Amino acid sequence: MTGRLLEVRDLEFAYDRMPVLFGVSLHVDPGESVALLGANGAGKTTLLRALAGLERPSGGSVHFDGADITGVAAERLVRRGIALITGGRSVFTEMTVAENLELQARAFAGDRRELAARRDQVLTTFPRLGERMNQLAGSMSGGEQQQLALAKAILLRPKLLCIDELSLGLAPIVVGELLEIVGRISASGIAVLLVEQSLNIAADLCARTVFLEKGAVKFEGRTSDLLERDDIAKAVFLGA
Ligand code: ATP
Repeated sequence: MTGRLLEVRDLEFAYDRMPVLFGVSLHVDPGESVALLGANGAGKTTLLRALAGLERPSGGSVHFDGADITGVAAERLVRRGIALITGGRSVFTEMTVAENLELQARAFAGDRRELAARRDQVLTTFPRLGERMNQLAGSMSGGEQQQLALAKAILLRPKLLCIDELSLGLAPIVVGELLEIVGRISASGIAVLLVEQSLNIAADLCARTVFLEKGAVKFEGRTSDLLERDDIAKAVFLGA
C-alpha cells in the first residue's frame, strides 16, 4: 500500500439487500489518471460514491493517503483531499457562479488571503466563469456548468478528483474543451479517477483503465491494451 494515493480492497456494497459491488479492488497512485469504465449498471457510480464517503460499504476497505477511510463521511473526506463531481449535480443551479464558489470556499480551513489567491487562480483556468460571476448557474450551458463543477472541486486543491461522466449529454466540441481542462488539472499533479461510458475519452486522458462488469473488475491494465480487447471494447460506447 505504500506510495498509493487510493487503495480500494475487496469492496462490497448492497442497496438494501441487493448486492451491487462484489469485492472490487483498485488503486490510484499520486498524480495518476485512471479510467473506470463499464456498461450501464456495472456499478461505477456506486463505487465512486462508496469511496468518496456517500455510501457505506458492506465489506472491504478504502485507504487514502496513508489512512483507512472506510466508512468515513464525505464532508470529512473533502477536507482530506477527495473531491467528487457527479454528472450535472455538482452545482447549485439557483445560485450564481460567485455564490457557488463562495459556498465551496467555506469548506476551506486556511487563511482568507490564500483562499483569494486560489480563487484568482481558478478564474484564470476558467476565464469563461470569470465573465459570468453574477449569472445563475442554472442558466448556463451544460458545458459551462461542468466547468463550474470542476472549478469548485479544484478550489479545494484535492489530491484526488473523482469525475462521474463528464461527457454526459454534451456535444463533442464541448467535451473536448472539458477534457483539455481536466488534462491541465491532471498535469498540475492532481490524481483523477474518471468514470466514463466512452472508451475514447478514457484513452485520451488515462494511461490505465479499470473495467467493471456486473460489480466486479473484469480488466485492469493499460488503456491501449483494452482497446485491443474486442469483447470489452464492444461493451463500452466508442464515442467521439
Ligand atoms: P450508469 O453508467 O448507468 O450510471 P453505473 O455503472 O454507474 O451505471 P450504478 O449507477 O452504480 O452503475 O448502478 C449499479 C446497480 O445498482 C444498478 O443495477 C442500479 O440499478 C443499482 N442502483 C443504483 N442506485 C441505486 C439505488 N439508489 N437504489 C437501488 N439500486 C440502485
